[in-house]
Amino acid sequence: MRVLLVGGGGREHALALGLADDPSVEMLVAAPGNPGIASVAELREVDTADPAAVAALAVELRAELVVIGPEAPLVAGVADAVRAKGIAVFGPSAEAARLEGSKTFAKEIMTAAGVPTARAHTCTDPQSAAEALDDFGPPYVVKNDGLAAGKGVVVTDDRAIALEHARECGRVVIEEYLSGPEVSLFVVTDGEAAVPLLPAQDFKRVGDGDTGPNTGGMGAYAPLPWAPPDLVDEVMTDVVHPTLAQMRHRGIPFAGLLYVGLALTAAGPRVIEFNARFGDPETQVVLALLETPLAGLLHAAATGTLAAHPPLRWRDGAAVTVVVAAEGYPAKPRTGDVITGADRAGVIHAGTRRDADGTLRSAGGRVLCGTATGPDLAAARDAAYALVRGIELAGAHHRSDIAAAAVESRIAVPD
Ligand code: AMP
Repeated sequence: MRVLLVGGGGREHALALGLADDPSVEMLVAAPGNPGIASVAELREVDTADPAAVAALAVELRAELVVIGPEAPLVAGVADAVRAKGIAVFGPSAEAARLEGSKTFAKEIMTAAGVPTARAHTCTDPQSAAEALDDFGPPYVVKNDGLAAGKGVVVTDDRAIALEHARECGRVVIEEYLSGPEVSLFVVTDGEAAVPLLPAQDFKRVGDGDTGPNTGGMGAYAPLPWAPPDLVDEVMTDVVHPTLAQMRHRGIPFAGLLYVGLALTAAGPRVIEFNARFGDPETQVVLALLETPLAGLLHAAATGTLAAHPPLRWRDGAAVTVVVAAEGYPAKPRTGDVITGADRAGVIHAGTRRDADGTLRSAGGRVLCGTATGPDLAAARDAAYALVRGIELAGAHHRSDIAAAAVESRIAVPD
């Protein structure tokens, strides 16, 4: 299979490793890719937000499968443009990607589908925002209505900060606070058939103990030793299938990766958000455990043949990834610093670039991830931190508690 992978972050590096490992893949090109991806794929320059440019590249490469990693190209209509050329594409249409691109649209679908989620109000002016905040009380949850790369949400006990975020964003969704451990569940779907991957947990706050501002994600692990055994079945029945049915009913079937972000509350699992693509950094750990060839799975979803795909096979054990972030991330990341120790198996590149002389430098807020598997979570965690300790980058920081609570059995689902 000839495969074009669109994107150039940590998620795409993890996808590239999975695709390159699939014996059916005879060509793998990544656009734009990154220096880590370059070790398993040919890199091509492209404006990933330009549907016509990506479609033209897919045609030129005679691609048989295009895999779109990030949300921005999906919302821009890249999947539609590639599909219009008769090429199989893993990723939803622009219209279906609104499940991620618009929090209001996602709420509307969830309500129509009867999916359990937080009660919410969409607000466009300070007066209605203040009323919504007072309706729910603290902690306040204020979400930018548009795409915000995982950074548009403010959760705070401070009403003034909540109001200020609402004012800055203009159009926001203000919702009820959901209390309970969070789970990320990835579901591969062709619009009708749906296959869940292993549930994972990520760490959104920048600091240890879930302190500091929200980020794109500072680490992740899978599987979840504390998750109820029927969790995935319950989410498929109560959330995924009703949502996919509602999308079909509206004539905008969702095919690609449905990311379900959940809080396991005392009242049961509640959807925090939908995303229209693999999550970063959970992809790094979930794909590290997937034994089933990745390209075949994504191709089945892209061609409406997922129902005939064999059941997934998983490696035993666990996986952990720890993000190494640039100084100043998330507020004002410093880039351009020299990196050493990154050329080892398990080091995933997220925001890096290589000079002509081969020097590796930071080029984004989240720079690298140390990703490792092990026979159990504790072993995987030790191995991931060993990778991180081997990386040198001036001013870099990482969380020291990724997967720690799970290893120490300190996570409980409220009942
Ligand atoms: P989102 O971009 O919607 O995933 O939100 C980012 C993070 O904010 C989530 O991973 C949660 O940690 C937190 N969050 C969002 N919505 C809620 C909510 N209703 N209750 C509690 N925490 C939330």
